[in-house]
Amino acid sequence: MQGQQDGLIGAIEAGGTKFICALARMDGTIVARARIDTRTPAECFPDVAAFFTAAQETHGRIAAFGVASFGPIDIDPASPAYGTFTTTPKPGWQGARFHDVLDPFGVPFVVDTDVNGAAIGEWLAGAGQGARTLAYTTIGTGVGTGVLRDGKSLMGFSHYEMGHIHPSHDRAADPFEGWCPYHGDCLEGLVAGPAIIKRWGTSLDHLADDPAKIDLIGGYIADLAADLVLMHMPDRLIFGGGVMKAPGLIETVRRRTLARLNGYVQNPRLDPGLEQYIVTPGLGDDAGITGAIELGRSKL
Ligand code: ZN
Repeated sequence: MQGQQDGLIGAIEAGGTKFICALARMDGTIVARARIDTRTPAECFPDVAAFFTAAQETHGRIAAFGVASFGPIDIDPASPAYGTFTTTPKPGWQGARFHDVLDPFGVPFVVDTDVNGAAIGEWLAGAGQGARTLAYTTIGTGVGTGVLRDGKSLMGFSHYEMGHIHPSHDRAADPFEGWCPYHGDCLEGLVAGPAIIKRWGTSLDHLADDPAKIDLIGGYIADLAADLVLMHMPDRLIFGGGVMKAPGLIETVRRRTLARLNGYVQNPRLDPGLEQYIVTPGLGDDAGITGAIELGRSKL
């Protein structure tokens, strides 16, 4: 008879376009994996359940599930709406619950955000290793930051929404009014992938030979980086996502963050050029599913 510690972990990275489902051993080794297109919950959840049912028959019993999901979603374990999508504009998903797909398996599960999941993955096996307090930011279709303490994500009454802070916006230098439907020129409204395409007609990696544009976007991101330092004093900041792949951007973020802090925060962790302090992810596309596995393991 196997004990719970010998069971397998079911992991779900739920994104706006795809669900990555994986069955993993306790050491994190993935033994089965599937990609399921995100449609409505009624179309998508049965495929997710079918994958785990079949994988369990082949590989053994699932002891817990970990979910790293798009949102907004309730991630407060004490809330009756835990694991329920809240104000998401994605058709059919508002009010959808992970309970509906996972309850039939009769094992515990943990639901966190996709950003927090990727942060946990990077903390465990990527660029965040060794950091007690870690801030992981993704700048892609949207902007979000997860902050971890000893590998656990921090939250208040809900998950953080730091992509919607307002960076300093000089409208003479950048007349673009912003793209966020709620705030206009919040950080997401100014630097997310769709904002850059709306402003300049192409993605930032195609504008790498225009230092002024890289500097503008890097300056906005540096406002968040400096705020993260001031509010959380992290041991390290990771910046990932599609926009951050633009050549020269991470260097600009380091330089502008130093300028923003202006010597106020002195600590050996902040190396002179911030090259060790502000870094890119180490796991690439596997950060989310790695974090989801760890979320499941944390429940055992
Ligand atoms: Zn906003």
